[in-house]
Amino acid sequence: SKEMGRNQLYFFEPGMHKTLRKKQRLEQSLKQAISKQQLKLFYQPKVNSQGQIVSYEALIRWFHPEFGLITPNDFIPLAENSYLINEIGEWVLTTACQQIRVFQQQGTPLPIAVNVSERQLVQKNFVEIVSSIVQNSGIDPHLLELEITESMLNEDLENTRIKLLALSKLGITFSLDDFGTGYSSLIYLKNLPITVLKIDRSFVHEFLTQETDLAIVKTIIAMAKSLSLHVVAEGVEQQEQFEMLMSLGCDLFQGYLFGKPEPLTPPEPTE
Ligand code: C2E
Ligand code: CA
Ligand code: CA
Ligand code: CA
Repeated sequence: SKEMGRNQLYFFEPGMHKTLRKKQRLEQSLKQAISKQQLKLFYQPKVNSQGQIVSYEALIRWFHPEFGLITPNDFIPLAENSYLINEIGEWVLTTACQQIRVFQQQGTPLPIAVNVSERQLVQKNFVEIVSSIVQNSGIDPHLLELEITESMLNEDLENTRIKLLALSKLGITFSLDDFGTGYSSLIYLKNLPITVLKIDRSFVHEFLTQETDLAIVKTIIAMAKSLSLHVVAEGVEQQEQFEMLMSLGCDLFQGYLFGKPEPLTPPEPTE
C-alpha cells in the first residue's frame, strides 16, 4: 500500500532512493535491450603458456542510450530475477555461435566460452534450446564451451548431470567457473562432464603476497592435474603472476595482461 511505501522510504537515504529508481528504470529498459540491439558481446582471450590465443570467453555488455556502457554485474542480476535472463542467454548463445562460424569461415576455428546462468540451466528444455542454436548456426559443437559455476549445482544434481551429459555427447564442453568461491564439492567433478576448472580471480589477485591465496591456487592446480582437468587462471594482470602460475602447472591464462574483453567484429554502423 501507499502507507507501506512511505514507511519504507523512511529507511532509504536520498541516494539509495535514486539508486532504486535507476534500478527500476534499468529493469524496464532491459526488456527492450535485445530488440533495440543495445547488447553486444565482447571477447576476452585465453592464452597458453606461450602466450598464444587458444580460445575466447564471451562477456556481455549493454550500451544504454542514457547510462552508457553497463557491465554485466549491473544488469545480469536484474535479468536473473526474471525470465529475461533466458531470452538474453539465448541471444548470447546465438551471437557467440555466429562468431564461431565466422572463425570457421576464416579458417581459424577457435573455441568460444559462454557464461550460463542457473535459471537457464534449470529450464526443462535447456538441452533442446542449446542444441537447436548450435545446429542452426552450423558450427562444430566442439567449439562451444559453457561456463557454469558451483553455486548453480546445489540443486537437483542428477537432473543437471543428465543435461550436461546430453550436451557433452553433442561435443559441447563445460568448465567450472569461479572455482573455489562456492561449495567446492568434489562430487561435481566426479559426476559431471567438466573438463576445465577456472581459478577465481579473487585468488589470483594477491597470491604472490598472500600465503593463503597461494595455498589455494596450488591446491586447485594440483587437484585439477590429478583429475586430468585443464586449469585456467582468471584475472592475470602481472607478468610475475603469469610466471608463477606457469611454474605451478597452470595450463591456460586469462586476464588484462593478455587482453581485455573487446569486440571481435567491427561495430555495426549506426544510423
Ligand atoms: P566471470 O565469468 O567470472 O568473468 C570474468 C570477469 O573478470 C569479467 O568481468 C572480465 O572482464 C573480468 N576480468 C578479466 N580479466 C581481468 C583482469 O585481469 N582483472 C580484472 N580486474 N578483471 C578481469 P565482466 O565482463 O564485467 O563480467 C562479470 C560477470 O558477469 C562474469 O564473471 C559473469 O559471471 C557475468 N557475465 C558476463 N557475461 C555474461 C553472459 O553473457 N551471461 C551470463 N549469464 N553472465 C555473464
Ligand atoms: Ca566466466
Ligand atoms: Ca570467473
Ligand atoms: Ca565471477
